Amino acid sequence: MAHNSTNNIQTFNKARVELHLHLDGAIKPETILYFGKKRGIKMPADSVEGLMSYIGYEEPLNLTQFLEIFNHYMPAIAGDREAVKRIAYELVQMKAKEGVIYFEARYSPHFLANSNVVPIPWNQKPGDLTPDEVVHLVNQGFQEGEKDFKIKARSILCCMRHMPEWSAEVVRLCKKYRNEGVVGIDLAGDESLNCETYSGHGKAYEEAFKSGIHRTVHAGEAGPSSVVKEAVDILKAERIGHGYHTIEDPILYNRLLNLNIHFETCPWSSYLTGACNPDFTQHPIIRFRKDEANYSLNTDDPLIFKSTLDKDYHIVSKYMGFTEEEFMRVNINAASSCFLPDKEKEELLSTLYEAYGMVQSTVF
Ligand code: ZN
Repeated sequence: MAHNSTNNIQTFNKARVELHLHLDGAIKPETILYFGKKRGIKMPADSVEGLMSYIGYEEPLNLTQFLEIFNHYMPAIAGDREAVKRIAYELVQMKAKEGVIYFEARYSPHFLANSNVVPIPWNQKPGDLTPDEVVHLVNQGFQEGEKDFKIKARSILCCMRHMPEWSAEVVRLCKKYRNEGVVGIDLAGDESLNCETYSGHGKAYEEAFKSGIHRTVHAGEAGPSSVVKEAVDILKAERIGHGYHTIEDPILYNRLLNLNIHFETCPWSSYLTGACNPDFTQHPIIRFRKDEANYSLNTDDPLIFKSTLDKDYHIVSKYMGFTEEEFMRVNINAASSCFLPDKEKEELLSTLYEAYGMVQSTVF
């Protein structure tokens, strides 16, 4: 299927909110090359074009291929203080250019560290950057970006399905940094690894629930609806990352509609990862739209998918007939389901209502 742009498709360019975005899947290729060179790390290529031929995809890929991509570029960034802070700062810049006024970016603190982490990821040599300091650096990068680009950035810390040993520390870091920009916890990775077997995640989510840490879980992306059920019932997820396969279980789907559970959908990502029928006119988002489900539109990993949020907006506009009204509804849903404290959430919603001409601005 061709996904080339056509001029007669209107995409929505008013204030946007993005909730499902991976910091380590949203790095500028120039930055990867810069740190690879600076640190003397062997990279697959030394030009942006060359590098992108290894890490950028335009056609569907399987999970193994997808995971291999990270091996090509994460060694340039992980374990380096300046790099970690810079990718956070640059993400704020990137999103401001896309008309995003608030985003939540997620990452595994362990994947960016090279100390206090077993096993050390990406075959790095042991160093002295701990997952704890990684979170501090990302917070700093976001805060500096917020000042310079006048938008708001928060983060979600990821547990990894194959590494339940890391999850206790993930929830500890969520609590430690909850007033410095961390707003929630996520579970990412291979959905075939369920949480009953990997109980470290269950314990971490229980602690998150008890401590008032917001919870989202990657579920029902490639995996079946049972993973979504587990996310909601066992992990007490408030939002579901993707969630496309929920609709295959009508009882569960109706229950989630009634609970107003938020689905963080990522149209272009779902095509490239083969999560859904590649025909966009048959996409689960169409069902979500028809049922007025609570869902948002997101990029997921724009570096790897060679995309911006415009691409996702364009797809739903072109293949699913999204109108300006629907785009507004989707963004208001995203703001309503974001993990900000209530007062800040109200402010965000007011900003959207004003940008969409839905209310008169109030004079105090
Ligand atoms: Zn994701």
